[in-house]
Amino acid sequence: MRRGFKMRIVIDPGHGGRDPGAVGPAGIREKDVTLAVAKLLAGYLKPIAETKLTRDSDRALGSDVNSDLRARVEAAETWRADYFISIHCNAAAAGARGVETYAYKPGGEGERLARAIQKGLVEATGLPNRGVKFANYYVLRKTSMPAVLVEMGFISNPQEEKLLRDATWQDKAAKAIATGIANYLGKKLPAPTPAAPVTGYPTVPVNVHGKLITGIIIENRTFVWINDIASAYGDKTRWEPKERKVYVE
Ligand SMILES: [Zn+2]
Repeated sequence: MRRGFKMRIVIDPGHGGRDPGAVGPAGIREKDVTLAVAKLLAGYLKPIAETKLTRDSDRALGSDVNSDLRARVEAAETWRADYFISIHCNAAAAGARGVETYAYKPGGEGERLARAIQKGLVEATGLPNRGVKFANYYVLRKTSMPAVLVEMGFISNPQEEKLLRDATWQDKAAKAIATGIANYLGKKLPAPTPAAPVTGYPTVPVNVHGKLITGIIIENRTFVWINDIASAYGDKTRWEPKERKVYVE
């Protein structure tokens, strides 16, 4: 650990591009879910860590599976990441359900980090706890820093596929993973942005360049509080009473 610096965390959204990962019975693709959650996770971790995504769009990182996986590990090594978090959805027979988190082998930092993330996810989502497991996965074996692989739920299970595709659930999962990481690092995530001060409408998480704010939906349009979006861009709002105008600057 480099003291006095923010931890560097690589977030690896599984699959991408020509590799959809697992595809659920309703056609939801693992690669889309992992990317959405990875971006939200980066937003949640921003206050406590430096983050880097191995991909931030729908693309493969190599010409075949092997070079793709190699590129993910290399990205973490080159950047000298302190931790590596790979995000996936599980697939098996339709009846299989729940959350599991993988580390390479027992007894190390990877296992402890996996336990913290698993705990966070199970508590937040209420999905069955399949526990922390160990596997000889390439991205776990080849990374020199503690590495975990999160299987957020079974995309092959119709009920869990419905959750995995849902933006609100994705946000909950990302926050839960971030909470697990923060607990592991002995840090606290800042309190969430207060919900929009209007009730009775559905809310939606809005990711503004990695900062998460809450919007409300009124007649198919998303509204956000001007202070929230301005501060997400690093701006301030000011009410000018003489002109009766709001400035964002
Ligand atoms: Zn996967």
